[in-house]
Amino acid sequence: MFASRAPAPPTGKGAKFSVEELYGFSKKPKVMRGHCGKADKADGRKDAKEKEESVLASHILEAAKRVMERRRLEIYMRECDVTMEDSCMPYRYLGKTGLRVSCLGLGTWVTFGSQISDEMADSVMTLAYDNGVNLFDTAEVYASGRAETILGNILEKKGWRRSSYVVTTKIYWGGQAETERGLSRKHIIEGLRGSLARLKLDYVDIVFANRSDVNSPMEGWGTHLTVDIQSYDANISMLTHSSARVCLCAEVVRAMTFVINQGMAMYWGTSRWNAVEIMEAYSIARQFNLVPPVCEQAEYHYFQRDKVELHLPELYHKIGIGSMTWSPLACGMLTGKYNSGVPQNSRAAMKGHGWLRERLYSDEGKQQLSKVKELHLLADRLECTPAQLAIAWCLRSEGISSVLLGVSNTEQLMENLSSIQVLSQLTPALIAEIDTLLGNKPRKHKKEEKS
Ligand code: NDP
Repeated sequence: MFASRAPAPPTGKGAKFSVEELYGFSKKPKVMRGHCGKADKADGRKDAKEKEESVLASHILEAAKRVMERRRLEIYMRECDVTMEDSCMPYRYLGKTGLRVSCLGLGTWVTFGSQISDEMADSVMTLAYDNGVNLFDTAEVYASGRAETILGNILEKKGWRRSSYVVTTKIYWGGQAETERGLSRKHIIEGLRGSLARLKLDYVDIVFANRSDVNSPMEGWGTHLTVDIQSYDANISMLTHSSARVCLCAEVVRAMTFVINQGMAMYWGTSRWNAVEIMEAYSIARQFNLVPPVCEQAEYHYFQRDKVELHLPELYHKIGIGSMTWSPLACGMLTGKYNSGVPQNSRAAMKGHGWLRERLYSDEGKQQLSKVKELHLLADRLECTPAQLAIAWCLRSEGISSVLLGVSNTEQLMENLSSIQVLSQLTPALIAEIDTLLGNKPRKHKKEEKS
């Protein structure tokens, strides 16, 4: 795709370039000399000097070649609408699908259509895309649909190739009416149609069920999260006709299969589902030849670890479910901005975010804030910001397909994107140091380890 727009590689005779010619160097022919006293000595010195010059010339040539290569690469990448900086963004497979997503995605919760202006949303998205972010996440509920509208307006205005980015949305809370909420077939289909209209897109890449509808854990399964596909299938078969819970899950899987078959979405995923519920959906899809989920959106940061570190890796290895994680900064808390109060213009100061203020200054919140201060010192030692360290820490696991960022301005975005550079500093020793400091490394219960 890119190759057609790129300049032809210099393979033909005419296209070949000689670095020597280009930089005005010429190779001296090697002269064979006979032995004759003084003249020999003078010749020897001349030879040594020539040798020195030739070594120097070859070093210069090597350097020139490297400059030329870089220049050619820059031209090629510019032709492809990619800058050299873009190539710093690592891409990962979404679970075990073939879809490549940037390891940092941009989310729109709280910010788009609410906290920030449309102009700022445009700047943030443009900067993200220019820096290699190809994943944009939204939901029908964000700012009552305005986040999707603004995202759609920006995408339309930018005219980026549809094939060059991934849009994900989430369905659950669509409106006030009883039928506009939940995961009924009706709401999944109508809700997604509404999202597509607001986004002005023909399809989203991934549609998420934005929580599970089935709250009561199935007896015997809720506490025991280790996944055994064979016995699980058998149990599901038994329960298929008797459990309302499984019927509801089957309705979700069927509706998701329908929207995919209709071309309204490429994949579907779950959001805030537990491992048992995801397994349930997978098993139903297998039994009825439907489309299984490919990814779970889960909260993940220093103080929220169990699901992503203990349960999702197992689902990834056994059934290919990827993890897309959210709130890497615990709504901004991990930046240290709340260490001595709630700054104006911060998320916690916003109307409707009393829950965040309460959480921050609860007993647990205060303990967490004191750990944030210690992590600040660690970040200082690594010469990065606390936000960069926190995001890089989330990225350290290869099982995580993408970490969704939230930002209220372009400075925050640039700072957070640089967390990629911090990743290489996260040695096992440093991770262990963070674990000791946090004191919450998840461990499997003995019962789970055995099975
Ligand atoms: P974070 O925990 O990273 O919080 C982001 C907020 O922190 C920003 O809006 C900003 O708020 C503050 N912040 C970010 N970077 C900096 C910085 N460098 N310095 C200072 N402050 C900073 O992520 P979100 O909670 O926003 O979650 C990210 C995305 O994940 C969402 O946009 C959404 O798409 C997705 N998500 C999915 C959920 C789900 O249920 N599936 C639930 C929640 C989120 P401020 O400047 O206002 O203080």
